[in-house]
Amino acid sequence: MNQIVTPSPSLLTDASQRLNLALKYATISEDAIRSLQSPKASLSVSIPVRMDDGSLQVFQGYRVRYDDTRGPGKGGVRYHPNVTLDEVQTLAFWMTFKCAALNLPFGGAKGGITVNPKLLSKMELERLSRGYISAIADFIGVDTDILAPDVYTNAMVMGWMMDEYSTIKRHYSPGVVTGKPITLGGSLGREDATALGAFFVMQTLLPKLDRVPQHTTVAIQGFGNAGAALAEFLYQAGYQVVAISDSQGGLYAKSGLDIPTLRQLKESTRKLQAVYCDGSVCNFTAHDVISNEDLLTLDVDVLIPAALEKQITVNNADKIRAKFIFEVANGPITSQADAILEAKGIQVFPDILVNAGGVTVSYFEWVQNRNGMYWSLGEVNQSLQRRIIEETERIWEIAQRQKISMRAAAYVHALQRLGEAIDAKGTRDYYVN
Ligand code: NAD
Repeated sequence: MNQIVTPSPSLLTDASQRLNLALKYATISEDAIRSLQSPKASLSVSIPVRMDDGSLQVFQGYRVRYDDTRGPGKGGVRYHPNVTLDEVQTLAFWMTFKCAALNLPFGGAKGGITVNPKLLSKMELERLSRGYISAIADFIGVDTDILAPDVYTNAMVMGWMMDEYSTIKRHYSPGVVTGKPITLGGSLGREDATALGAFFVMQTLLPKLDRVPQHTTVAIQGFGNAGAALAEFLYQAGYQVVAISDSQGGLYAKSGLDIPTLRQLKESTRKLQAVYCDGSVCNFTAHDVISNEDLLTLDVDVLIPAALEKQITVNNADKIRAKFIFEVANGPITSQADAILEAKGIQVFPDILVNAGGVTVSYFEWVQNRNGMYWSLGEVNQSLQRRIIEETERIWEIAQRQKISMRAAAYVHALQRLGEAIDAKGTRDYYVN
């Protein structure tokens, strides 16, 4: 038996397809394959929250540890109305392979609450965040499972979570949460780490593909934390960022957009729509207003999905014209779409490598919290650069040697480390639990 099997058709099933492909090229024991078939632990909790008007609402929350053979579980907490257990399990699955691919001493975990945080007041959001920690406090810990921000959670929320956990455990526990405010033990460089990691991956790989920045056009879907910072790194390095978009729509300029100015405007207005044309920014570059679907199908060298899952599917994969896709979002391409892109000769660089800068600096934050010595921004960025380039080169080498896609190579690379760890440990855990 050489297949990962999941219980029902779901996002997790789709994610497992990638693993099934990679298993053909990896040398890994039957025991290890069986161990990776399903999440190790999934906790589902109800979180009662007293609302500002005195009423009580109950929210559904989850925390999943997919695998912790290589170290404590590590993964963000997502607040979104579409959060389900299936989604959280899938995100925890991806974290497992991401941490192994980057050789971080962590397993994979994830958490989430089914909520539209935009409908809550700040006090309600804080009570919900504290209630979530109270409900999962015995499931997480500095050496068992470490939280971080994800979609619609940020440093402020991480600060509340760390404070609540420390209060419950009656000792200061900064290492249980990363992505915290700097003043509560956060790391310098964490905010831009995902974008900077993606930038290092691109700078390592694009020269191998005979691309130089000045002659490389880029379109970015999603102008949030990761997408906007990456757009600016690329702009500063001389790439032509010709299109960007957010949930309201997108902008396109053939000669390249003025990213720093657009970013400033986005920061002050919170949406790109504000720059659709009556502001002074429109005088910097002539641009067209485009839809998200237009952006995805532009004739550019590099396409960067940096928004949500499942953006490139069987419905639009055959219309994609970019030569290279760097996945900054988690899971923006479905496994069926992957096959279509491959047949068209479009090279995809996978999320578990491209967006791993965030969890890498989260690891540095955890290390700093544990030993109480804090690093300079230069030390953080240099360590990030070294690790990202090293693992990118290894994955590239596997792809070249085995003549497989970079996605398959990233999974093979991660599987090798996971398999060795699972075999070294034996399966005793699974008998005593
Ligand atoms: P964010 O919320 O800051 O930004 C998301 C952006 O996508 C926003 O600009 C939003 O307007 C835009 N968007 C939403 N729906 C869209 C649509 N249909 N079309 C175009 N744009 C749309 O989130 P983020 O932190 O930048 O994360 C983006 C992605 O990167 C997510 O998939 C996340 O899981 C992944 N990621 C982020 C980090 C990190 O450290 N920020 C780390 C790893 C992975």
